[in-house]
Amino acid sequence: MGFEFKKMESTETKTETGFDLDADIEKVKCLIIGSGPAGYTAAIYASRANLSPVIYQGLEPGGQLTTTTEVDNFPGYPEGVTGPVMMEDLKAQAERFGADSRWGIVSSVDLSKRPFKVIVDGKKQLEAEALIISTGATAKYLGLESEEKMKGSGVSACATCDGFFYKGKDVAVIGGGDTATEEATYLAKMCNKVTLVVRRDELRASKVMQDRVFNTPNIEVKWNSQVDEFLGENGVEGVRLVNKEGEKEEIKLDGIFVAIGHHPNSDFVKGQIDMDEAGFITTSNGQKTNLPGVFAAGDVQDKVYRQGITAAGTGAMAAIDAEHYLASLED
Ligand code: NDP
Repeated sequence: MGFEFKKMESTETKTETGFDLDADIEKVKCLIIGSGPAGYTAAIYASRANLSPVIYQGLEPGGQLTTTTEVDNFPGYPEGVTGPVMMEDLKAQAERFGADSRWGIVSSVDLSKRPFKVIVDGKKQLEAEALIISTGATAKYLGLESEEKMKGSGVSACATCDGFFYKGKDVAVIGGGDTATEEATYLAKMCNKVTLVVRRDELRASKVMQDRVFNTPNIEVKWNSQVDEFLGENGVEGVRLVNKEGEKEEIKLDGIFVAIGHHPNSDFVKGQIDMDEAGFITTSNGQKTNLPGVFAAGDVQDKVYRQGITAAGTGAMAAIDAEHYLASLED
């Protein structure tokens, strides 16, 4: 995707040759795109390093954690904290050191040369010396209406976040990849029974994870099965499965974990930066991408750990990398 100047609205200034785009370009040292734990932690570190970071919050200010209820595994909160409160805390901490946190969605970027050109909301233009991409990932869901209704009241996409609430209960995990098998074995340690719903007659997961599933007595695999409907009035009470012969079966459950993959929010830089075939941005040697001056942190570059704390850790690393990079330009 190239950098396209969109037609400017109220801020446009005309010259004889057309629009005087330069007149409206804001120059920033360190621009952070995305406001989950990675983005805000990057903002805390970058502001303390005098990089005067500007952070654009994006489509889902606060990121995926704002869609969960209790967060019990983020260090420093002995009594737990809700996702939205934790994100407000991180934002306040970043702003305390001068980070400029703004509403806005980055609509296009040009990474072909430095300073990097960025357009926000189709009209506001910025140029950044260093860029930290922390736009996160979006969990994929099946797309059923009943699923949408029960998100947060029995339907979850994160066993590490929500599994604790199902101690001693019966749950299902949907999917057959590494995430689904990891979630199933994780949940099996605390739940009474885990039903793993797999749409084919084999798992996509690595051999070691397959073995773990087959060697865990309280995991039952339902092969060739898909969810027909999530069942329950005020939250999950069960699920109706349909197999490839069209036979339906209802199972009583307390919770359902959908683990059919995540989509990294990297489409806006596709073709401009190295990423894997699923769209996760490639980082190495800290949080560096293949483009000097562009760093990535959090779930947009992590398909394995995907935790708030690991995202925060990579956010700190990205800011330190950006600081070193900017210092090297002055040498
Ligand atoms: P994957 O894409 O690997 O697997 C998705 C699974 O969900 C597949 O079994 C797929 O079925 C199934 N699925 C997809 N859509 C549907 C649907 N609509 N209905 C029912 N089932 C569906 O995603 P993961 O999140 O598991 O893994 C992503 C990547 O991250 C992989 O490369 C994985 O190896 C890696 N990973 C590594 C980990 C580790 O190393 N510890 C941990 C977690 C992930 P089908 O097979 O039929 O397509």
